Amino acid sequence: MNEMLMQGQYLRVLSLGCGLYELVFDNQQAGINTLSRPCISEFGDAITLLKDLEGLRGVLISSDHEDFIVGGDINEFDRQARLPRQELIALLDEMNNWLNRLEHLPAPSVVALGGDTLGGGVELALACDYRLMSSSARLRLPHARRGFLPGWGGTVRLPRVVGLDSAIDWICTGRYVEADEAVQTGLAVTAVAPDHLRIAALELLEQCAEGEFDFQALRRHKRQALPMSKLGVRLAVESSRDRIAQVSDKHQPAALQALDTLLEQALLPAEQAMAIETQRYVEVVSSEITPALTSLLRSELRTKHRARAELKKSEFHRVGVIGAGVMGRAIATQAAVKRMRVVMLDAKDEQLIDAVDEIAARLAREVKGKRLDAEERVGILTRIRPTLSREEFARVDLAIEAVIEDPGVKTVALLTIERYLPEDAILATNTSAIPVGGLARGLKRPQQFCGIHFFNPVATMPMVEVVRAAKTSDETIGRALGFAMAMGKTPVVVRDCPGFFVNRVLHSYFMGFLFLVRDGVDPYRIDRLMETYGWSLGPARTLDKLGIDTSVNAGRMLAAAYPERLTFPGESALDRLRSLRRLGRKVGLGFYRYVGGGRLKSLPDSSLSSELEPLAVRHPEVSDREIVERMMIPLKIEAARVLEEGNIASPAEADVALVLGVGYPAFRGGAFYAMNREGLGRFVARCRKYAELGPIYQPGLQLRELAVAGRSYSEWGTGDEA
Ligand code: NAD
Repeated sequence: MNEMLMQGQYLRVLSLGCGLYELVFDNQQAGINTLSRPCISEFGDAITLLKDLEGLRGVLISSDHEDFIVGGDINEFDRQARLPRQELIALLDEMNNWLNRLEHLPAPSVVALGGDTLGGGVELALACDYRLMSSSARLRLPHARRGFLPGWGGTVRLPRVVGLDSAIDWICTGRYVEADEAVQTGLAVTAVAPDHLRIAALELLEQCAEGEFDFQALRRHKRQALPMSKLGVRLAVESSRDRIAQVSDKHQPAALQALDTLLEQALLPAEQAMAIETQRYVEVVSSEITPALTSLLRSELRTKHRARAELKKSEFHRVGVIGAGVMGRAIATQAAVKRMRVVMLDAKDEQLIDAVDEIAARLAREVKGKRLDAEERVGILTRIRPTLSREEFARVDLAIEAVIEDPGVKTVALLTIERYLPEDAILATNTSAIPVGGLARGLKRPQQFCGIHFFNPVATMPMVEVVRAAKTSDETIGRALGFAMAMGKTPVVVRDCPGFFVNRVLHSYFMGFLFLVRDGVDPYRIDRLMETYGWSLGPARTLDKLGIDTSVNAGRMLAAAYPERLTFPGESALDRLRSLRRLGRKVGLGFYRYVGGGRLKSLPDSSLSSELEPLAVRHPEVSDREIVERMMIPLKIEAARVLEEGNIASPAEADVALVLGVGYPAFRGGAFYAMNREGLGRFVARCRKYAELGPIYQPGLQLRELAVAGRSYSEWGTGDEA
């Protein structure tokens, strides 16, 4: 019978008999274990208790939850980032002290890692002598992606356990590491079937307690400098620098700072190395970037929270896609990648043949680039079943329509397919602009119909808009959220309104661009400035990518829906390019000229200025700062209007949609985060400077009222769902 020695809110300590003890992380308040302040305090008590136990022969560390530990508590990050330097150091020292004591317990320790182990959870596991993983477990050190560094010994222990190359890769890219890689690199002793994890960990602990392994040698190794030459360390670091710079956001330097931290301390004994880690951690978190990324992460977790729960409730084995064009084939592929069976219907046989050929060729390129296993490619292709027959939809869990953007064609396609669907299946449309409520008319089960708006390219765009029409039921929204998660996307719920959220806000940003061009400002200068500001593509490059004709059509639709604000007076640069058939990347010429095969390169085109010159009605002096302001203000104002109308539930969700859907620079945290930081009063005053340029520079009533009342969007909470 196990004897309970300590029962806290976050963990417990048990005696297993024969000098073996178990420390179980089991957060009673939530379904996940995080290393929050109160949890760290209990952890300290547990370590103190274990250290002094007489006859201690071994300690097993485990979790009673699906995941081991998912890192520190994100809700504490803001406060920590604002702490004076000495207090922050003291906070890091506290946890480091407990981890050092764990590492120096008089008996060996084994940690059992199931599910996900993230951030601080990995750092805790590294302080143990032996790590055992379940075969489906993963781990990840996401710190650098979130604007900070591991601060609980991760940069010190990891390279000493798995070697410098793997440590650089894992820490600087923040990618997931699967169990087999963890075993290959020596992080984990072995990986076992998930059901067998605890038993295997206990067996290992018994063996350790019997003295079968020299855990003291492992500890000595972790305390020393890396067994490498100075040149070897420099080579490992410098040969990774370009790759790390390429994969990390250039505006977000934490990955490269992590690399420098590894370089600086690799050849020092662990104690001195730890002091360097702490110093660098404090420097990095005092930047503006860390709180912005933290706020964004919190918003993202909040946004995904419900969708995750929905994913657990519903299963999607079989999905139907109607239309095998650009979007239909990409949605079908993504579903098959995520292990769903797909029936892909089109009206034309040749479209289906073309779709299958293109999917096969695209996946072959992935295999060639070593991003996909050859066997998995065959599996994906086998799961997609092209068809001309609607009968095949009789067993789908969800059908998504992606036929051409024409209300008449869509209505017929939806009404027809509904007749073939099982009673409980969900029907969705991927329309980018047609009101979903209108498409629901005539359906027998409008409550089971909604929009699921994927963005192009489906494989890489991280979010979808789930569109709630007037008759859509809560259950349907829930299942659509679950489906989006199953597809690997972050869903944001938006109410049915023209342009939904992403296209509407993006359009107001483009309006800012078109007004600048009308004032004679060079589009290339605007692109350079916005790319420096943090957008991965400037507005002209983005418009070329979306297609000039597609953008003109989207603009017309939005102008018709919001004529008082989103109508461009007179001929715009987009109208001009369209009439010149400069339709963007797809034809090799738009704002830019596109050259090269495969990966197209964009070059400025010398004829552009003379083509646009007649449109310039005035040539005021516009400073760089004004250009950025004139681009960003309309976007923020429109986002605030969507929120004011209740078409999106909360500023947090809007910021997630802005970063993941619109391309707003992540390290700036999102529009609402930025407005809150600036202060709404100051932001509204800044808008006034541009008010005479047009209504896109005039904030809505709610924003003005909040500003006058000295309030901010951070008081909003999560909001009711849109
Ligand atoms: P597309 O023109 O490439 O493909 C449409 C396909 O539907 C064609 O293969 C056509 O043969 C097929 N089709 C037409 N009528 C049909 C019917 N009655 N039954 C079955 N198949 C039929 O179009 P697309 O770019 O894939 O766009 C599809 C939808 O996705 C549109 O609503 C569009 O607005 C939306 N969307 C497109 C993008 C994008 O960038 N292309 C992005 C987001 C959303």
